[in-house]
Amino acid sequence: AMAICRWAGYPDLFITFTCNPKWPEIQDMLDLIPGQKPEDRPDIVARVFMLKLKELMNDIKNEKCFGQTIAIVYTIEFQKRGLPHAHILVFLHPDDKDPSPSQIDKIISAEIPDKNSDPDGYEAVQNYMIHGPCGQAHPKSPCMVDKSCAKHFPKSFCTETTIDEDNYPVYRRRDDGNTVDKNGVKLDNRFVVPYN
Ligand SMILES: [Zn+2]
Repeated sequence: AMAICRWAGYPDLFITFTCNPKWPEIQDMLDLIPGQKPEDRPDIVARVFMLKLKELMNDIKNEKCFGQTIAIVYTIEFQKRGLPHAHILVFLHPDDKDPSPSQIDKIISAEIPDKNSDPDGYEAVQNYMIHGPCGQAHPKSPCMVDKSCAKHFPKSFCTETTIDEDNYPVYRRRDDGNTVDKNGVKLDNRFVVPYN
């Protein structure tokens, strides 16, 4: 990966792709023998994960969903014997490097989708892309170190995406009143993990 960095420059996107045992492709196979759980069949989990990862690579490389790429590096990790996930670095073509805030907003969001116009997006973000609750609402959350969140949630509200002095994006998180309910706690855009 470092050798590729020397040739391609800094990576532009750092994407985590996580296996979801509720994927219908996994559930359908498990249902063939009643009572099977995902942890009983790492063979099915690993194969479906790999098929979807290859499809994602096709979306990024050939469908160019984030722009033109010149290199991609990924590693697949397992939490002990748990679910696989891939950490993916994407190096964009010089023409697509240094995207403007409006270009970033087209591919990355840190906001809860509108429940009425995008119900699927709303549900996905509610289920998978919310950090917490932590802080005072849940001081025993694993992210809490010395009474504050080690991942720096909640983030601040932010009316528009900006680039900070170190060239990192600060994502738009509007105070738009959208919330999701997580374990009885109402969480807003300050708790959204950025997603594509
Ligand atoms: Zn936290």
